[in-house]
Amino acid sequence: MSDYAVTIGLEVHAQLLTNTKMFCGCKASYGAAHNSLTCPVCMGLPGALPMPNRRAIEMAVKVGLATGSTITRATKFDRKNYFYPDLPKGYQISQFDKPICAGGSMEIRGLFGVKRVGITRIHLEEDAGKSQHGDDDGTLIDLNRCGVPLIEIVSEPDMSSPEEAYAYLMEIRRLVRWLEVCDGNLEEGSLRCDANISVAPEGERGVPVEIKNLNSFHGVEKAIRYEIERQSEVVRNGGKISRMTLLWDSDKGETRVMRTKEAAHDYRYFPEPDLVELSISDQMMAEAHEASPEYPWVRRERYVGIGVKPDDADVLTAEKEFGEYFEEVFAGCNNEAPRAVRWVIGEALRWRKELGGGERFVVSAYATAEVAGLEASGKISGLAAKTVYEEMARTGRSDPAMIVKEKGLEQVSDTGALEAVITKIIEDNPKEVERYRGGDMKLKGFFVGQVMKAMGGKADPKATGEILGRLLG
Ligand SMILES: [Zn+2]
Repeated sequence: MSDYAVTIGLEVHAQLLTNTKMFCGCKASYGAAHNSLTCPVCMGLPGALPMPNRRAIEMAVKVGLATGSTITRATKFDRKNYFYPDLPKGYQISQFDKPICAGGSMEIRGLFGVKRVGITRIHLEEDAGKSQHGDDDGTLIDLNRCGVPLIEIVSEPDMSSPEEAYAYLMEIRRLVRWLEVCDGNLEEGSLRCDANISVAPEGERGVPVEIKNLNSFHGVEKAIRYEIERQSEVVRNGGKISRMTLLWDSDKGETRVMRTKEAAHDYRYFPEPDLVELSISDQMMAEAHEASPEYPWVRRERYVGIGVKPDDADVLTAEKEFGEYFEEVFAGCNNEAPRAVRWVIGEALRWRKELGGGERFVVSAYATAEVAGLEASGKISGLAAKTVYEEMARTGRSDPAMIVKEKGLEQVSDTGALEAVITKIIEDNPKEVERYRGGDMKLKGFFVGQVMKAMGGKADPKATGEILGRLLG
């Protein structure tokens, strides 16, 4: 889309799922009455002293380990000074020169292929409050979010297209959800993304322009595409890109200038005097290792190793929960991967999307495995199995064997009954029998279809095949 070299780096803020805030004991939760989750520490009252949240530090270490980052064993907090109404202290406690993690990377995949994106640093900081700009009442401030722990994940400018940026952001989202450190909700702001984009003729260095306010996944892609086009146009016309910060307006589908270089902030970072240096102990490192689940990319390779197709393995590792579900069904399918995949992707995930709003499975893994087992043993046909499954999905029932009985779906494998039906079909279709005996083997399917029709789809295919073969000679 551009004749020039494009470089994109992303800064992602992830709100950590701790019970309490970063430096005080206030609850870190949402939807409470305005300013009810506050105390002297997070309101920045004089004399109040911060105390770091151990859980938040552990979560940052877990993300660091997963991204192959180096954990800074002697880390520290710094003050980032700026004035804004939702920041009562007049500074944010963040990390400047010794971030808790540095030098990691993430692999991303897409139509562009497979690419590794460097992660410059991951640091811990506290969130600011929320301003609510009303029409009549002026601006209202809610400090409930003030002091909620965040990690900021800063990538290297290793991406070169909107698609890569999108894939990277999705990968970060999957990881923080997988590690249970953040719920990854971009629309609600628990995951936030800023992008740095530069466009320059091949071989030259560009000037990065920052875009803020990217609050949806497609917004990220669109805003980056828009900015690449804008900068390409400037470069094409012989102009110079100037350093600035832009805001993405998702309604208008365009960016507007938030501040230019002249007004750029100098945050006057200095070490937080109320907190001592933070050392990450061997014990904490060991605990973080221990608490880390099998990573999604490791699980994907394992699934491919047991016979799952790579594309299906991608689907099954999109969420940690999918894999746990799959493994239960897999065990119930005598470890036959293709069958388990068919049930999980074809049925369980489809019904999850259709009836569970994409948020929850409507049939348990146990019940799914049971239906798969009924089909595999020949007790019910593939078609009947789907009927049973739909009944469970729609009613919430989890007793497939009972549904089979109630609906009379059990396959007929009684050879006497099948023989009688097949004998009649052979009598009724002399022409087809003659052609079959004359060598037109394709007609076997015709006879199987006739048997299924006569038996209401409940004939055991294996027994049917055997008897047909014998009687047709
Ligand atoms: Zn507080």
